[in-house]
Amino acid sequence: MRIKFWGVRGSVSCAYPDYLEYGGNTSCIELEILGKTVILDAGTGLPWLGNDLLKRDVRDVHLLMSHFHSDHTNGFNYFKHIYIPGHSISIRAALNYGDLTIEDLIRQQLSENLHPVQYEHLPSKLDCLGFNAGDEFELFDGVQVKTYMLTHPAGCTCYRIEAEGKVLVYATDTEHTDGETDEGLVEMMKGADLVVYDCTYTEEELPTKLGWGHSTWNEGVRLCQLAGAKRMAMYHYSPDYNDDVVADLEAQARAAWPGAFGAKEGMIVEL
Ligand SMILES: [Zn+2]
Ligand SMILES: [Zn+2]
Repeated sequence: MRIKFWGVRGSVSCAYPDYLEYGGNTSCIELEILGKTVILDAGTGLPWLGNDLLKRDVRDVHLLMSHFHSDHTNGFNYFKHIYIPGHSISIRAALNYGDLTIEDLIRQQLSENLHPVQYEHLPSKLDCLGFNAGDEFELFDGVQVKTYMLTHPAGCTCYRIEAEGKVLVYATDTEHTDGETDEGLVEMMKGADLVVYDCTYTEEELPTKLGWGHSTWNEGVRLCQLAGAKRMAMYHYSPDYNDDVVADLEAQARAAWPGAFGAKEGMIVEL
């Protein structure tokens, strides 16, 4: 399993020089598994991943959405695959929005109030599939996926992706409560080779952002250790934290647990 980070920022993209080391694009990760492409979230990193996929003539992709907050969807409308006949995107997300289907949510992204080209005019093949959080499914031959609902306003899906004996856990946008352990999340992380974890805030800032649905590297390390995970990629950094701040947080996390490292745009991790 090959993992490439295309966007590691949370909340909003940051196009300034002091954000270039870790990167300013929002949530988007590319996975190469058994020769196929799986994408986690459609933040502003997605258009640049899309350009790279076109260069490599990769036409068919699977997109797993954690949720539909704008920092996880803002790149979707600029993902060139959706405008090219013969290209396909299979989109999966948890049914967690009342009567709305996943196709309804994608249509909303492309509604005429938000975008000049509407869903029904797209010449590519889009398959929108919903599941219930907690479901397990085979994404394609050889890839098993487990899902879990995290603590986040309107919910956010955690994915545990297992293939070729390796395990990746994608746990972005989750809020922890001091003194409590999210046992379901620990179960998802059990023995993972890599956990991508929401490290939006510092422990000092978190109390001022209660209810916003985010966590800290300290909690990520604690959960990884409880779960016997091997490594943790810090992810979804606050846009208020420039490279100097994130580098300092990464140094603190590494000192606390050598398995921790700060995800950077362009970074590749092989499991
Ligand atoms: Zn987010
Ligand atoms: Zn969110």
